[in-house]
Amino acid sequence: MTKLADSYHRPINYLRISVTDRCNLRCIYCMPSEGISLMSHGDILRYEEIDLVAKAAAELGIAKLRLTGGEPLVRAGLTDLVAMLAKIKGIDDISMTTNGVLLDRYAVALKNAGLHRVNISLDSLRPERFHKITRIGKLDDVLNGIEAAKEAGLNPVKINMVVIRGTNDDEIHHLALLTLSDVWHVRFIEFMPFMEKGKKNRFLVPVSEIMERIEALGKLEPSLPNGVGPARYYRFPGAKGTIGFISPVTECFCQACNRLRLTADGKLRPCLFSDDEIDLRGPLRQGAAVEDIKHLIRQAVVSKPEKHKLIAGVTCERFMSQIGG
Ligand code: SAM
Ligand code: SF4
Repeated sequence: MTKLADSYHRPINYLRISVTDRCNLRCIYCMPSEGISLMSHGDILRYEEIDLVAKAAAELGIAKLRLTGGEPLVRAGLTDLVAMLAKIKGIDDISMTTNGVLLDRYAVALKNAGLHRVNISLDSLRPERFHKITRIGKLDDVLNGIEAAKEAGLNPVKINMVVIRGTNDDEIHHLALLTLSDVWHVRFIEFMPFMEKGKKNRFLVPVSEIMERIEALGKLEPSLPNGVGPARYYRFPGAKGTIGFISPVTECFCQACNRLRLTADGKLRPCLFSDDEIDLRGPLRQGAAVEDIKHLIRQAVVSKPEKHKLIAGVTCERFMSQIGG
């Protein structure tokens, strides 16, 4: 197996796969209230096509896969896809990012199919506020999903909170303190201005400020697994859980970027914030074999930019739900 590296010598070993652009929520920072114009079913990659791309990627050295969306659990038969991916030689980690609403129903089946772990989005612990942020969601569904994931052994269960100034930033301390007594791995994510392109990011709470607010509660100490992926992890001394910080806006973590993204309609995106994409669906439907897809993946890796342009205020054409985060 060849090791995949981009033009800046970054090892590329991680593929995020968006399996659908559909979602059962409408989070205010991710989608307009009316939803987005959806891809047709025929536009979306079939499971056999995703499997072929993942096989090609694994042959090049990709070892980690993450399923995302939209909401991955709204796609029918997702456990079948997990089972297919789990059989691929060289793939040693399969995870999923989900809003958790349907996890209570699927956690055990996903674990049995070969899913290793989940990241669950949870932006508020107040039912009314949770409903307001997601425009549809019921907090209890997600809390049940979190418990189901833990019981099924989809560990570590990570909780992602997008911090939105004036909306939920007064709950930072609440989520942080939960890590003292619960095995919660809470990650605070900076708000990215996908919905208000070109405008000042008035909802942003920089990670430096989030950390300051948490350290007012007690000193944090560095925790594992630092150095892997964009999050930096800490914990309160003796705490059961950890606290992670993800700062896509104020601190560029591009130097550690190890990933490619596959959109639901079969485009390979070398960078989250760049609209340069390589089409795989066309070649797949014209009969491309694993070797042909490997060639296109290599092309995407070589074209990875050194860093994104979000700090300069540039975002991208797609909504977050169309890329998968
Ligand atoms: N539906 C799943 C979920 O919500 O976890 C997976 C897809 S969602 C697009 C992936 C991640 O992107 C979530 O953790 C979500 O909170 C994050 N996200 C979406 N829009 C964002 C934004 N404007 N700023 C920061 N994070 C965002
Ligand atoms: Fe759906 Fe996830 Fe976007 Fe919320 S963040 S609207 S759950 S895709």
